[in-house]
Amino acid sequence: MKECIFCKISNKEVPSKVISESDKSIAFLDVNPLSKGHTLVIPKSHSKTLLDLESDGWCDMNALVKKVVSIIQDKLNPDGFNIGLNMNIAGGQAVDHIHIHIIPRWTGDGGGSIHTIINNPPEEALESVYKQLSE
Ligand code: AMP
Ligand code: ZN
Repeated sequence: MKECIFCKISNKEVPSKVISESDKSIAFLDVNPLSKGHTLVIPKSHSKTLLDLESDGWCDMNALVKKVVSIIQDKLNPDGFNIGLNMNIAGGQAVDHIHIHIIPRWTGDGGGSIHTIINNPPEEALESVYKQLSE
């Protein structure tokens, strides 16, 4: 996509600090890191979200996530990680090219867990939600 900043990074039209790459994915440092080593993994071709990315591309991204986590673990020795993605505006997605955040964590760094992102439990019973979702 012409104006997409992450497409430009993938095409090397915009510089980035590449940590590792595969055939279909690339991992580079987040320009505004939430912690030391905060890295983004993107597919090289444009998809906005998980829903328009083919399974192969998703598998490739996740293989690269695993590789980058291993690199960060070896080189920076964090105590933990948060790994995830923001999807659509409601989910906090600012760049419309799917990206997985790899955020290294250290004991006592003041951050929270994934459970601190949202606290909006449903009023419906779990059984009701289960019925809506089970195939
Ligand atoms: P999100 O809110 O999940 O869409 O996060 C987008 C992330 O992309 C943010 O953490 C930004 O700091 C990061 N970002 C935006 N532009 C660049 C860039 N040119 N190079 C590296 N990271 C970027
Ligand atoms: Zn793009």
